[in-house]
Amino acid sequence: MTENKPLIDPWSSNNITDYEHVFKEFGLKAFNDEWKKDLDHLLFRRNLVIAERDFAKVIARIKAKKPFVNITGIASSGPLHFGHKVDIDLFRFFKEKGARNYFAVSDIDAYCSRDKITAMKQAKELAVNNLKHVLSLGLSEKDVYVQSRKEQRYYEFAFELSKKITNNEFEAVYGHVNLGKISAAILQYGDILHPQLSEYEGKMPSITGIGLDQDPHARVTRDIAQRLGYDLEVPSFIYFKHQSGLREGKKMSSSEPNTAIFLDDNLKDAEKKLMGAFTGGRNTIEEQRKLGGNPDICKVHEMLKFHYEDDKEVERIFTECRQGKWLCGDCKKFCANFVLKFLEKHQKEAEKKQKTAEKIVYG
Ligand code: SF4
Repeated sequence: MTENKPLIDPWSSNNITDYEHVFKEFGLKAFNDEWKKDLDHLLFRRNLVIAERDFAKVIARIKAKKPFVNITGIASSGPLHFGHKVDIDLFRFFKEKGARNYFAVSDIDAYCSRDKITAMKQAKELAVNNLKHVLSLGLSEKDVYVQSRKEQRYYEFAFELSKKITNNEFEAVYGHVNLGKISAAILQYGDILHPQLSEYEGKMPSITGIGLDQDPHARVTRDIAQRLGYDLEVPSFIYFKHQSGLREGKKMSSSEPNTAIFLDDNLKDAEKKLMGAFTGGRNTIEEQRKLGGNPDICKVHEMLKFHYEDDKEVERIFTECRQGKWLCGDCKKFCANFVLKFLEKHQKEAEKKQKTAEKIVYG
């Protein structure tokens, strides 16, 4: 780490590619293949979960069919896209494994940490929008909360936490001290730790699935948990790869609409973005037939890898692409057909959740 320049900035939209360096620098462990036998979800089956901190505690609870805390959140700073769906899918998976669920829709965090959110009113409108999608992806009203309407005990706890980190520590981890981002980060620590207070679930292992770019928050939260003076389990984390953007080089980002398919996108726009996605195809059909394509760098294949349930089909496309038997035009149509069908059904459901989402945000 160079002075004032951390290796990972959780607020940046750059894609992390140097995994080994990050593992080594911050002491993350590679995810243990043995555990995957008990974790039947495509993110585990397809090696999209790559690293962990203290996951042994959580897998032990899953195997023993004992409860554990499942906590994650979304900063409502823009419309949700397929990259966000990955976080929600993982959360729903742990919910189905018997977790106690805390999904934070982080309107205050978004307002404090994102320049583009200029009023709380805007953050709350986005929270409603985000929530209707979250609820349509399989979470219930009981699984979610919005920060601005959390009870007093949560805020009291967040203030307690704030005394456990100094400006210097904050600067060493994040590379800068910015009041809005400090406030947002403190609420995030509170989000992760508060379910273990006696007023909620009490002490028990907890799991949060994040991208590697969020590891600074994980390190600080784990550190604070040990010196807070409460009897808490140090929270566990797993790290998944981010689905990258449809164009070359970046992760799917709300700030760059052409890199992402949004859950609100109309079907025509979604189709257009997919048909224009970066692929691993060759310059001509003849070349592709002869040399095969490269699904490893292909955004169309990546979309299937993160979201298409059928393992055999995803593997078949991978193999036939490599062999030059499967061409990009057909492949894009196949993927578009899957995405559009999903969106059509999902958007109908999301409309039905609008009123519930408004009630959660505004009361
Ligand atoms: Fe990508 Fe499909 Fe083309 Fe292969 S055939 S490079 S997987 S779009």
